[in-house]
Amino acid sequence: MLGAAAQAPGKHWAENAHCSGQDVEVFVPLVDGPRQDPEHVRKTHGVALNRPLNFCAACPLAVSARCLVESLKHDDEFGIRAGLLASERLELRAKWQERRDSHAVAAALHGATTALTDSERQEVIARFACDPTLNSAAVARALGVTHKHLLKLASRSRLRLVPAMHSSDSSGAA
Ligand code: SF4
Repeated sequence: MLGAAAQAPGKHWAENAHCSGQDVEVFVPLVDGPRQDPEHVRKTHGVALNRPLNFCAACPLAVSARCLVESLKHDDEFGIRAGLLASERLELRAKWQERRDSHAVAAALHGATTALTDSERQEVIARFACDPTLNSAAVARALGVTHKHLLKLASRSRLRLVPAMHSSDSSGAA
């Protein structure tokens, strides 16, 4: 699924969404919430959920995958995304927040526009900031930022490292 999300890159990924132009309220049914029992929600409110679920089922796979990844990245607690109820995404959301995949980080450092969690993104920036051999254009593409913005992020990351290095120096000397 994450691989499919990469097929809908850029800011305008939602242009081809099947729900584009639809009333967003339809995708946030009152009966669904992150702590509900999804089986109960589907069983008791199935008909009311059919419309948004049918939209998602007809959505192009790449768009649907990106929709799910975006909802995980932004920790969207409510609403139907990629055919999944809020209650069905609870576990996925928790797993996503914990993810620190070294392969995803390595791929991003080589320019792959793979989906990254916040901590993976920070690791990419920190490693780029310390490694002058990495290709800045490729890393900027992977993170979806301009070259200038990447350099700013790298410089902030270095500034954060300096006090940390000094404090470990002084604790070592004591
Ligand atoms: S998967 Fe569903 S909510 Fe997401 S963009 Fe497609 S139709 Fe819209």
